[in-house]
Amino acid sequence: MQGRFHIRTFGCQMNQHDAEKMSNLLHHAGYRPAQAPREADVVVVHTCSIREKAEHKLYSELGGLLERKQQRPDLVVGVGGCVAQQEGERLLRRFPRLDFVFGPQNLTHLPALVDGARQRHRASRTDYDDDPQARFELPERHPEYASPTPGRAFVTVMEGCDLFCSYCVVPRTRGREVSRSSRTILEEIRELAAGGVVEVTLLGQTVNAYGRPRPGRISGEMPFAGLIERVAEVDGIERIRFTSPHPIFMDEALIRAYAEVPQLCPHLHLPIQSGSTRVLRAMNRRHTREDYLQIVARLRQARSELAITTDIIVGFPGETPRDFEQTLSLVREVGFCDSFSFVYSERPETPAQRRGLRAPPRELALERLQRLQEVQRELTLAAGRRRVGERTLVLVEGAGQRRPGQLRGRCPHNRVVNFESLRPPPAGSLCAVDVTAATPHSLLGRSAEDAPAALPLL
Ligand code: SF4
Repeated sequence: MQGRFHIRTFGCQMNQHDAEKMSNLLHHAGYRPAQAPREADVVVVHTCSIREKAEHKLYSELGGLLERKQQRPDLVVGVGGCVAQQEGERLLRRFPRLDFVFGPQNLTHLPALVDGARQRHRASRTDYDDDPQARFELPERHPEYASPTPGRAFVTVMEGCDLFCSYCVVPRTRGREVSRSSRTILEEIRELAAGGVVEVTLLGQTVNAYGRPRPGRISGEMPFAGLIERVAEVDGIERIRFTSPHPIFMDEALIRAYAEVPQLCPHLHLPIQSGSTRVLRAMNRRHTREDYLQIVARLRQARSELAITTDIIVGFPGETPRDFEQTLSLVREVGFCDSFSFVYSERPETPAQRRGLRAPPRELALERLQRLQEVQRELTLAAGRRRVGERTLVLVEGAGQRRPGQLRGRCPHNRVVNFESLRPPPAGSLCAVDVTAATPHSLLGRSAEDAPAALPLL
């Protein structure tokens, strides 16, 4: 064994999945995981730069690690992810004991960077590969890193983004849109299914742009809806999810898939960001409030029980009280089952920052955020209460957190379900559960096996 590694990850599901890939690469290079940084010989801080707060976390984390390196000079410390891409060499200059930095496109170079660091060679890899498909060519997944929870796995289908929303750093940190070949995606999913995975989440920054022909770049051979149909044909795959889609790529074929592909889960996380067309324009989102509402109506025609969740930015530069009221009214009109809402955070080198747009005062933005979150709390609870009395199929994740002996899993609508069972099913299995109550954060239930009478499965 070469030593032990620890990866500290911040940010989105894409980052979480990249951390699994890094763990797998280090495993193949002879390293084994350590539970905590203090037990590790190699520590990688895997960063996110979507909000300023996430970037500050990196600096506080690095401070502690590099202090330890003073006492233990053989400790290898690296920084990966979006901040690494954005800052590159600047990070090495600012932290003289830091060994290496590498951007998301250079993830496959991690073992070589660690080897270099052990020979006292500091390096920054933030270049873009000439062959964009190379970043998808990874060694076979070791079972330990195959899935975050038994039975479930993430699969990258595309990376990067060509849309340049005015608040977002992703096109700079993750690069331009590249679709992975459908052949390798399907091979990976077949392997996962053979290893017991029943649910896959297809990942990409604008995942439903998958397969778009882009000038001068390799693209997938089929549109996203076609890929979903092919994934549904893989033996053993019972559930398909995807994240994050962009409203402009919600085409007819993808909407129809909700009616025609039973494995496609009745949950969609579709970012809206603002309910005001004026603000959406300033954000360069390329669609209007009305476009979004029409997509939702068509989706609900295709699958009436669809649970929709979203992302919202509050206090975007130029947001007026009327714009914010439009956001509130859209949230109520769609009836989101949940939403992730944040106050706008200015990011370096985004179009919004370059244009010098001024955001509303922070106290005002926080007040708006609080109002929005109150509305959402009511909607989430109401959506949960409507589920009481249903029988649902839960993918078991393990022990529940509310009471000893309780189990926890997710239903097809992506709600956490805490439930009791006289004969606890193993993690990774699907279990029919009768929903008995709803809380703001989860559904409560009992295994259908314990129930006296059968309910129809929803
Ligand atoms: S669609 Fe917009 S928010 Fe999403 S990654 Fe691309 S630029 Fe960023």
